Amino acid sequence: MSLLVIGSVAFDAIETPFGKTDKIIGGAATYISMVSSYLTNDINLVAVVGEDFPAEHINLLNDMGVDTEGLQIKQGEKSFFWSGRYHNDMNSRDTLITELNVLENFDPVIPSSYQDCQYLMLGNLSPQVQMTVINRLENRPKLVAMDTMNFWMDIALDDLKSTLEKIDVLIINDEEARQLSGEYSLVRASKVIRDMGPKYLVIKKGEHGALLFHGNNIFSAPALPLEEVFDPTGAGDSFAGGFISYLARTDDTSFDNMKRAVIYGSAMASFCVEKFGTERLVGLTEEEIQSRVQAFISLSSVDISLTS
Ligand code: AMP
Repeated sequence: MSLLVIGSVAFDAIETPFGKTDKIIGGAATYISMVSSYLTNDINLVAVVGEDFPAEHINLLNDMGVDTEGLQIKQGEKSFFWSGRYHNDMNSRDTLITELNVLENFDPVIPSSYQDCQYLMLGNLSPQVQMTVINRLENRPKLVAMDTMNFWMDIALDDLKSTLEKIDVLIINDEEARQLSGEYSLVRASKVIRDMGPKYLVIKKGEHGALLFHGNNIFSAPALPLEEVFDPTGAGDSFAGGFISYLARTDDTSFDNMKRAVIYGSAMASFCVEKFGTERLVGLTEEEIQSRVQAFISLSSVDISLTS
């Protein structure tokens, strides 16, 4: 099934307790598309970069099977730039710089060959642009999933709430869920957020795994205990990529299949954090992915009989 990905394609500069990078390739849509390339075939990207964005990075996406006809290159403009610094626990970070640049006036154009997409992943971007993409699709996709972040809650909450009314699955982290709902309990937060529109909600909890909510059902997935988390940047987007591309591959949007998608998302995110930026997401093998998914199954399966 075809998958349409939108989101930032960016330069990032990252500081972790392990080191520091200069500008490297990043952006939500970059991580989502790269990860998706391992699970599904028909991946179409709508995004924008400036003339400073190296062609080799676009070629890399193409080599990985991502169609970039919908990637606009704005002459005379600069790409989105984000810089962040992680705390010692690697679970929290401070945003140091957000330069919207080309994102400021991004007008997403959907090539006609992308119009028949069945699965839509609205990666982190202005909620107004996310809404424009939904409105510009002639037919509503089978499933619309979306990510967002505190930055947009702070500056565009009304737009964000309007966009939430139009989507099926929201994927955010625990801190964002608390900010959006005003509730500390994640169970309470999930109810408040699902009342805003999305019937399904995934709350990512970093090294503590992820929760999937739908109706009265809750599924809890672990995160893989890793000896070393090198750089968490893009873990959330890698999760989203694994989640949506597993659904696109299996073309099954039942709650049970979403549980499997959460495991695939978690597995792909666990690769992402092993190296800086997107480095670990290039050249993964089928065998590595399968054995990582197996590790998740083993981690949380238990043979138990109830005592009477
Ligand atoms: P994650 O670590 O999964 O939350 O995502 C990190 C990525 O999000 C980085 O590669 C950034 O380029 C991108 N990013 C950070 N802030 C924003 C923003 N306000 N809008 C869109 N993308 C962003």
